[in-house]
Amino acid sequence: MKIYNSLTRKKEDFTATNNSVNMYVCGVTTYDKPHIGHAMSYIIFDTFHRYLEYLGFTVNRVQNFTDIDDKIIDRANKDSLDSNQVSEKNIKAYFDVMDKLNIKRANHYPRATNEIKEIIGIISNLIEREYAYESGGSVYFSVKKFKDYGKLSHRNVDEMLEATRFDVDENKINFADFVLWKSAKPGEPFWDSPWGNGRPGWHIECSAMVLHHLGEQIDIHGGGQDLVFPHHENEIAQSEAALGVNSFARFWVHNGLVQMDGDKMSKSLGNVFDVEVALKKYTSDAIRLWVLQSHYRKPLNLDENHIISSEKSISRLRNAIDIESNQDKQPISSQTYIDKFIQSMNDDLGTPAAIATLFDLARAIFRGRDNKDNVIDLIKALKKYSKLLGFDLKPSKKNIQISEKDIEELIDLRNDARSNKLFEESDRLRDKLQSLGVQISDSPEGTTWERI
Ligand SMILES: [Zn+2]
Ligand SMILES: [Zn+2]
Repeated sequence: MKIYNSLTRKKEDFTATNNSVNMYVCGVTTYDKPHIGHAMSYIIFDTFHRYLEYLGFTVNRVQNFTDIDDKIIDRANKDSLDSNQVSEKNIKAYFDVMDKLNIKRANHYPRATNEIKEIIGIISNLIEREYAYESGGSVYFSVKKFKDYGKLSHRNVDEMLEATRFDVDENKINFADFVLWKSAKPGEPFWDSPWGNGRPGWHIECSAMVLHHLGEQIDIHGGGQDLVFPHHENEIAQSEAALGVNSFARFWVHNGLVQMDGDKMSKSLGNVFDVEVALKKYTSDAIRLWVLQSHYRKPLNLDENHIISSEKSISRLRNAIDIESNQDKQPISSQTYIDKFIQSMNDDLGTPAAIATLFDLARAIFRGRDNKDNVIDLIKALKKYSKLLGFDLKPSKKNIQISEKDIEELIDLRNDARSNKLFEESDRLRDKLQSLGVQISDSPEGTTWERI
């Protein structure tokens, strides 16, 4: 399999010693419920995990929870909770939705607050090696000391200085230096350390957890493209400086980000940005299909119409696996489909082409039914490779049922558009209603609607 490595900016052949893969994926900061961007990212790394196993690798995946952070402390103060309670609540919400999305659990989910000893260990090591300095009760990494700084994000030092210029902290020697240990302000949660009471910075926890749970070098490090700089750049600096190695992660894999097109997000349909809401309206299969129909490195547009059409598409696959075969004939071979599927996946997890092959299979099954052929092998292949992408293809209990209130709201919006002569918009709203099973008709008395 070839995987695009952000470090070299090339697709490279992926191999691993003893076919054993150590994979670390940056997890969520537990100040809020997971959103659709998290769902996208973890569906993608779940698919990597599943496919590597299919290829015969043993995968050991570790994903952290950043369960102490400024945002968590702010949220705790706002909600009159302690930061632990905020984290517990959101970790529970995380597992709840990710399990529903059929995302295989990682082998281990370390939490920053359980790794304080390891974090202090690696910071002490960095101070000893003169890559870090203590100042005002906090500890900073000295970016200038690490000669490879910028090798992942391919930025030069000036650009990085520019990016961090506004991060004012009088204790730092240079703007670009970043915090490893943050001294606690009065009232903040803290841990005891050689530098006084404080808490770990965000970047250092991942370096400490990788070392603690996976060792000095890992095969794949994953995360969203928004983490390349500074988070992953800083992880590299910390880990490689502390360990004296020069390749802490062999492959850096980054997913594209969810983009919101405000225009296309209909308020009246509820906010699918919240994964819990999305899962109430759509099946997990539809959400996975929507994510995987786009290549993982590309941005994914959050247009609810695309999720709606994924819901329709997935039902085609569900129907195809229920077709009866004519056992009197020789089965039609599925091999060319399987070869195509694997070829696509081997090309940097090419799920859009792999999914197109699943739909080709479904088409062949329907054609076979019409010709009274034996499609048993085609159905077996469709089931197996759908499952490999995490689709369960169970019959859906979900009908996209839009409420009366939402229908009226959309009709009002459409009438506004019409009276403002925004005909494109009014047509779009009519089509949207149609796609939700609502037919409208205009008459001099006004607009009426019925479910179709
Ligand atoms: Zn991380
Ligand atoms: Zn641990």
